[in-house]
Amino acid sequence: MRNLCGSAGAVPGACAVNICKGDSKMRVYNFSAGPSTLPLNVLERARDEFLDFAGTGMSVTEISHRDKAFSAVVEDAEALVRELLNVPEDYAVIFVQGGASTQFAAIPLNLMHNGKADYIVTGNFAKKAWQEGQIYGDAVKIGDSSDRTYTYIPDVDELPYSQDADYVHITSNNTIFGSRYAKFPECKAPLVADMSSEIFSREIDVSKFGVIYAGAQKNLAPAGVTIVIAKRSLIQDPLKICPTMLKWKVQDDNGSLYNTPPCFSIYMADLVLRDLKEKGGVKAANEKAEYKAGLLYDFIDNSSLFKNNVEKPFRSIMNVPFVTPSAELDAKFIAEAKKAGLVSLKGHRLVGGMRASIYNAMPVEGVKALIAFMQKFEQENK
Ligand SMILES: *Cc1c(COP(=O)(O)O)cnc(C)c1O
Repeated sequence: MRNLCGSAGAVPGACAVNICKGDSKMRVYNFSAGPSTLPLNVLERARDEFLDFAGTGMSVTEISHRDKAFSAVVEDAEALVRELLNVPEDYAVIFVQGGASTQFAAIPLNLMHNGKADYIVTGNFAKKAWQEGQIYGDAVKIGDSSDRTYTYIPDVDELPYSQDADYVHITSNNTIFGSRYAKFPECKAPLVADMSSEIFSREIDVSKFGVIYAGAQKNLAPAGVTIVIAKRSLIQDPLKICPTMLKWKVQDDNGSLYNTPPCFSIYMADLVLRDLKEKGGVKAANEKAEYKAGLLYDFIDNSSLFKNNVEKPFRSIMNVPFVTPSAELDAKFIAEAKKAGLVSLKGHRLVGGMRASIYNAMPVEGVKALIAFMQKFEQENK
């Protein structure tokens, strides 16, 4: 990677935004949607103890997952998820593999006893979850915001919920299109929510959900681990065809150690959760996220060059897509931003334009640096 602070190849302005602290001369502001930026102090700690984890004389990537030093990590991570999200006692908290996409199948395989479920399709991942559901039964699309390119969430009070659905599936924050539920459905069937790109950034009442799941690589850890929080009474009787590895009950009964788990990712998740707790938990993370997103949306809304198309009540505080009037100018913006140490701003290939993912680990200074750069770009490209 380019050294942003040394004399050779130095980028003017990169140091002015204070990204050159301590040993981290090569750090940029990374706006990637996932895998994404992680707290610097967590990365530094992981580096410092990488060769000798917890006095074992081994790396955390080398020790047995049955070793007490490692099972303590899983227990700690689970306890922190419970504490930080106020998870009720009768819910399982498990760490599994295969990403959020594997859960698209695990959901019907664990829950679809009557062969029917409702899906609200508010973006690309919501659509994928719905399509996967169709493999196992009657996956009914009861809401769809594709008519206005997923720039809003349908009114959850007006949707035609099925009387006999086993569950209702939502994607709480739409990573690609930058929208989120302002209010969650209140439905008879258990609510299942993909919270991959916003978990731990907003306070939620877990008891209102049947299942919450999230791939870690957005707001929590490196890729490789997915958190599932599920009401235990719902997961006792998975479908006969459900693979053992996808049975949430099996994972719960085995404390997420049924087979070899993604040890390093769980370890990193544990460090991030500890850091989150030290910084004031989800409440503080939410306030910071609202503040950062507010700065960016305010700037965009007052800009004559940049535009965000998501309807205001549904704007995500994690993923902020924006465009200039032309694809050429978008490309120029992305290239020049990169030179200034503001990277991974290219929008998803389905949407084009730009997207700034401003997850929990993105410092306020990073968002301010982005806005300052956008201001300058706007001046120069009037
Ligand atoms: C990234 C993402 C996914 C896909 O996650 P994988 O871990 O790559 O399977 C699913 N849903 C949402 C909301 C996401 O942001």
